[in-house]
This record gives sequence, C-alpha cells and structure tokens, in this order.
Amino acid sequence: MCGERDGTIELRYARLVLCEECFKKYFVERVRKTVDEYKMFKPSERVAVAVSGGKDSVALLHSLKMAYPDLDIHVIHIDLGIDEYSEEARKVTEEVSKLVNVPLHIFSLKEEKGYTIKDFIGTKYGRRICGTCGIIKRYYMSYLAKKIGADVLATGHLLDDVVEVMITLFVDGKFGDLITQKPVLEPDFPNQVRKVKPLVKIYEWETRLYVDLNNLPRLTRSCPLRIGARSIRRKEIIMRFEEQEPAFMRRLYRVFTKKLIPILEKSVEKPRLQPCKICGGPSLTGICSKCAREVYLKDKKHLDIKIG
Ligand code: SF4
Ligand code: ZN
Repeated sequence: MCGERDGTIELRYARLVLCEECFKKYFVERVRKTVDEYKMFKPSERVAVAVSGGKDSVALLHSLKMAYPDLDIHVIHIDLGIDEYSEEARKVTEEVSKLVNVPLHIFSLKEEKGYTIKDFIGTKYGRRICGTCGIIKRYYMSYLAKKIGADVLATGHLLDDVVEVMITLFVDGKFGDLITQKPVLEPDFPNQVRKVKPLVKIYEWETRLYVDLNNLPRLTRSCPLRIGARSIRRKEIIMRFEEQEPAFMRRLYRVFTKKLIPILEKSVEKPRLQPCKICGGPSLTGICSKCAREVYLKDKKHLDIKIG
C-alpha cells in the first residue's frame, strides 16, 4: 500500500502482503467500512463500547477511536468479581480508556448487586458457569449503556466467534437463533439499545497482531472459571478450513447474513417477549434469566443480593 517498506504480513483472504504500518491502517479502514456498510451508528450518536480487557475489545475500542476520532465514545466495563482476573481486567480497561481518552463507566457486580460470578460455583448454574456469566454480563452491559444515555452498544465479536456460533446453531437445528449473529441487532424490546459488532469481518489473529503492533495493554490472565474448550476446538477446526481455502469464513458469514438470515426472518416466528416481573427487562416466561439466577442465589446462598 505504501510502496516504501517491505511487506511482512500476509492476508491470504485478500491476496495482500502489507508492512506493519499499512496493516494497522488497513485494520482501521476495514472497521470503518463495516460500520458504514451496515449503518451501525450515525456520527451524532453516543456509542458505548463494551471492554472486558481482552485483546478483542481493546482492539475494538482503539480502532473505533482511530476511525472516528470525534465520535462520542464511552467505555463500559462489568467487574465480575473473579479475583485477580477481574482486577487485571479492570486495570487494563482503565489504562486503555485513558490512552484513547474516553470516559469509562464501571459496573461492579459486588458493589451494585452484592454478589460475584464466583458465587454460582457449587450451584446448579456452576456446571455451565460461562452461560450464566454471559447472561449476567449481557444484561448489565445493556443496562449500563442505557443508563449513560448511549444509543448503541458495540461489542468485540469477531469473525471467528460468529462463524463458530453459526455453525453450532446450524448443526443443532436452532435456526431461529442464527438471527442473533447479525452485525446489527435493533432493539426488540422497550428500553434496549441497538447492538452492533464492528469487528465482525476481522479474524482473531488480526486483533492479536493489531494490539501487539500498537503496544496496547491487554489481559494476560485467563479466566480461572472457564470450563471446557468446545468452542475453542471448533474454532481450530474452522481455521483449518480457512488455511486450505482462504476467505472461507468470510464467505460463510456473507452467505448466512445475506442469504439465509433474510429467509429465516420471514419464516421463523419471533419468540413472544414479555416484561420481567422483577426488572421489567425482556423475558419469555415472566421472569428473565438474569433475575431467575439472582433469586436462586439469594435463596440458596442467603446472600444479601439486590434483585432487579
Ligand atoms: Fe465469564 Fe466464563 Fe468468560 Fe470467565 S470464561 S469471564 S466465567 S464467560
Ligand atoms: Zn428480570
């Protein structure tokens, strides 16, 4: 691209070999193009960026700021209370927010609600603790985004993530759920924000490289509660396809989003949501999954939890 330096980074899916400086620019340009292609937000909107401290969300925040220096970006972070892991996650998020000079809002489960993710260990939710953690994180990210007056919530989902989830849902026959992997999810319930995935066309190895080349801080620890590596194993298998057939994941994502999902949206009936009796959020049964877990924890562990 620059015509000056030697290319050292090969992007087989795009048949390009770039130098480090051009790779950084190319990464930011692709984030900008993805945002524009899917009309993820308008320049006047407030964008809450969910940062966990991991490389993907760090790359998301940094590249969005580079692509849109004047955008009203706010960082939101959920402190899950998982010992040193959460302490480091919080520290990294503080550092990177300062570096790109955007306001940071932290929601601490312990301080605000009176429990941590660790409290689910040994309960019926402990066996699939990441599922529970995901439900709680998603709920409070939306809550915090709404609270700070954001119009949009941006998350660091990558191409590898969405393709792995799509293949899994497809194989399990959960076709209706495929719709959740769209790059833009308009709110389907009052009091929700639009959710967008600006990194949805970026490969995982690219975010790692982007973070390293820009010398950005990132979490070095892994979460001690992670159980099972099924999704990691599946991602490795998909990556082997990609190695044999460059752009495989990009093509698959395009087919799903441009061809399959539009058909599904017409034919699959949307679940009928009703307000949760406790928090007013979306639920299928009258009590949302987040509140059900908080009530369970309060009853079983007698913790002083603020439910709702
Ligand atoms: Fe939560 Fe599981 Fe991620 Fe740990 S690994 S932060 S428990 S989702
Ligand atoms: Zn609820």
